[in-house]
Amino acid sequence: MGRRSTDLGMLPGMPDTVGGHPEKADAPPPARTLDEAIARAHEIIGEALDRFPIVARQALMSGGNDSTVLAHLVRPYLDSSEHDAIVHVNTGIGIEQTRQYVRDTAAGWGLPLRELHPRDSYDALVLGRVIARTGPNAGRRQVWMGFPGPAGHRVMYRRLKDEPLQRNRAAILGSAGRSRKVLYLAGMRWDESQRRFRNAAEIDPQGGIVWCSPIVHFTNAQMHEYRRRYGLPCNEVADLLHMSGECLCGAYAKPGELDEIEAWYPNTAYRIRSLEKQAADLGIKNCRWGQKPAGATIKPGSVAGRLCSSCPAPTPGQTDLFDTWAKQGLITAEQTSKLAGATAPRAA
Ligand code: SF4
Repeated sequence: MGRRSTDLGMLPGMPDTVGGHPEKADAPPPARTLDEAIARAHEIIGEALDRFPIVARQALMSGGNDSTVLAHLVRPYLDSSEHDAIVHVNTGIGIEQTRQYVRDTAAGWGLPLRELHPRDSYDALVLGRVIARTGPNAGRRQVWMGFPGPAGHRVMYRRLKDEPLQRNRAAILGSAGRSRKVLYLAGMRWDESQRRFRNAAEIDPQGGIVWCSPIVHFTNAQMHEYRRRYGLPCNEVADLLHMSGECLCGAYAKPGELDEIEAWYPNTAYRIRSLEKQAADLGIKNCRWGQKPAGATIKPGSVAGRLCSSCPAPTPGQTDLFDTWAKQGLITAEQTSKLAGATAPRAA
């Protein structure tokens, strides 16, 4: 079913809807004012708490501006047990300023923060130093080698994001995953993308985890209005790069993305380029970050991983961020053409 995309210019107080019928919703969401959308968010959380034996409530905060809204809205629920907290997955390959933004925001709101780290580092994966622990290759073969393209995304998502969350769940529940659950409150929304429109659900139980997306029905305009109404902080990384930057596996990087990162966050780019050099010195074939290996294709909507919304595959005709920055007066015409030249495809 077709759907419209919401208008950011909607007047505050007016009702709005994502339009259409998201596949995992019982019925098309009605138009709601922001207050009604907030009330619905609390109903969703209440339903999750009623239906499942929740022993820990954790709000996932990537550092993207949507995750700030989510964390702000669910603050009253994060004081029922010692495990309740804002949770940030520090993937080890991201922009430090985003991590600091999450730390500062949680501290500013007086909320406990759990920073989770993956067992296997991104560098070890790229350099082929992570040996399979289970399966037919256990103890014999690497699970991955080289910088990932789309085909490597699943490995990266599982190792960098999912594994720390699953380990966190296991540490809380032990073997009692049937009788006790961890509630992960996340900021997925139907209005984010076509993929989210198809896949996101209000409540989605999965083993010992109950995934809950209280703001799933919020439109882009309502997110805007919420941020304005409550004067929420913004992550400058998200504003400058249009992504939260907490996870830079590069599987879905668009051409020139590393140069864009370098323009604002040179330390992060330097760290990635150093890893490129290490990979090249070891003779690893895919030794360039964000470069799709030859023959790899990006299937529309192929991004897997429920927490990967900030890394959609580049869409045909996607406008370059440099143009946006130039229009916003952040860089001069001269800097624009210099940056554009720097991001022209490099010789292999
Ligand atoms: S695609 Fe994006 S969010 Fe997903 S693992 Fe890679 S960098 Fe992280």
